[in-house]
Amino acid sequence: MNELSELYQEVILDHTRAPRNFFEMGDATGSAAGHNPLCGDRVTVYLHLENGRVKNVSFQGSGCAISTASASLMTEAVKGKTLDEANRLFNAFHDMVTGQADPLLESGEPEFEKLAALAGVREFPMRVKCATLAWHTLKAALEDKSEPVSTE
Ligand code: ZN
Repeated sequence: MNELSELYQEVILDHTRAPRNFFEMGDATGSAAGHNPLCGDRVTVYLHLENGRVKNVSFQGSGCAISTASASLMTEAVKGKTLDEANRLFNAFHDMVTGQADPLLESGEPEFEKLAALAGVREFPMRVKCATLAWHTLKAALEDKSEPVSTE
């Protein structure tokens, strides 16, 4: 294992052991639930939007290490962002884990250095759904969809 992937492994372990923004938000303006039946991951994303900006974002749920770390990293990345910026991050993250973009190309953005910890899932198609679940659920919460999201 090279130094870079060791660092990434540490980021994922850190966020799995101590997920950030892991709580049910009482004053959420939108929320959505997501399910990845392939792995059994479940996540609910809560948002508080104000003036077109993600004032606060949190999640709850249970799932594998990758899905938990990804949800935790997602909340850190989109907090304080405008809706446009949040959608851009969604697209960039999606392109990275599906192998359509080089994660290093995005390294100019500080949020992306941490998100790049999940780039390794592109080698494992089953794991891509674990990593993208929280992001798809975020997107549904941004659109305040009441239908549960499934990665299927
Ligand atoms: Zn999973």
